[in-house]
Amino acid sequence: MQENGNIYGRLSNPTTAALEQKIAALDNAVGSCCVSSGHAAQLIALYPLLSPGKKIVASSKLYGGSITQFTKSFKSFGWETDLVDITNYDEIKQAIKAKNVRALFAESLSNPEGVVSDIEKLSELAHNEGIPLLIDNTMATQAICQPANYGADIIIYSTTKFLSGHGNAMGGCVVDAGKFDWNNGREFEKLTEPDTSYHGIKFFETFGNLAYINFCHASALRDLGTTMSPFNAYLTLTGIETLNLRMQKHMSNADEVANFLIKHDKVDSVSWSGFQKNKSYQLAKKYFKFGFGSVFTISVKAGFDGAKKIVENCNLFSHLANVGDTKSLIIHPASTTHRQLNPKEREISGAGDNVIRLSIGLEHSDDIIKDLKVSLDNL
Ligand SMILES: *Cc1c(COP(=O)(O)O)cnc(C)c1O
Repeated sequence: MQENGNIYGRLSNPTTAALEQKIAALDNAVGSCCVSSGHAAQLIALYPLLSPGKKIVASSKLYGGSITQFTKSFKSFGWETDLVDITNYDEIKQAIKAKNVRALFAESLSNPEGVVSDIEKLSELAHNEGIPLLIDNTMATQAICQPANYGADIIIYSTTKFLSGHGNAMGGCVVDAGKFDWNNGREFEKLTEPDTSYHGIKFFETFGNLAYINFCHASALRDLGTTMSPFNAYLTLTGIETLNLRMQKHMSNADEVANFLIKHDKVDSVSWSGFQKNKSYQLAKKYFKFGFGSVFTISVKAGFDGAKKIVENCNLFSHLANVGDTKSLIIHPASTTHRQLNPKEREISGAGDNVIRLSIGLEHSDDIIKDLKVSLDNL
């Protein structure tokens, strides 16, 4: 630990390090740690902060897989999770007051519903209680939002999605803004107390603002082993080169598709945050450089079976659980990605029976719209 360098492939690798530097630079951050998937990023991000009996306060509008990960598997580690309405600041304030809370967790732009978090407000609430704000920025990406600029302490990505963009490589990343004072918050003993597996060094005392991200590599990756393969790092590096261009096209296509769907008589509502009457519109204007996301949901009048049929009727859209691919993707969350949740949880996380999730790709918008039109008209 006295010299930087690659010791063993589970902890670090030169190709992966090139990707880590690129992602950290895109986020105006001090460092990052790439891992094998977005879920692994959440595990590695929370591991330095939590121990049995400690708690995460998280938005109820999270990706369905994250809700299951937090409330089932993390629970078996003794990590508790309280789910809150991320737009209800009194509820959040109350929840994070509990002395065992160690993290506030939200998505900048939620998957699937596109709810936008007020990052500045959340960071103020978290910092008042001495806990870090963790933001999953997967759906927005750095092309439209850099959460660290608004007070987020740790930023998380599923690089499987827009960052790689091609849907060919699973991956995740934990990014450290390097601003949180681990000594002046609640107890973060893994970072502030002597580490017996490294001859009693104290990470924060030794590494300062690199303490957290160094711990992610030196301890979390070493012992939990969720390393990104260098080949996936290479694929993600090539993908990131076109991130900005892709995001612009994703979002201008989404704009056209959302505006088509809102007028269709078989569609009840469209959750795209670019509509002025959408609850997230003002926050999206404030936090996003351009565009309003390209993953959103529609509610259809035809209910559970009709929603499934619309998915099956599509041809250009691929029926896939992924998002953020170059191809347009469609899925019915209630019967797939959110199936593990009970009906009430589904409703709360924006995946009710009549909801369809769309991830708008890079095809010509006329073709995308035509596919949806034919599918809806044939219902
Ligand atoms: C997909 C996704 C994850 C999980 O990422 P994987 O790479 O599939 O493990 C986490 N958060 C969000 C917002 C996602 O869309």
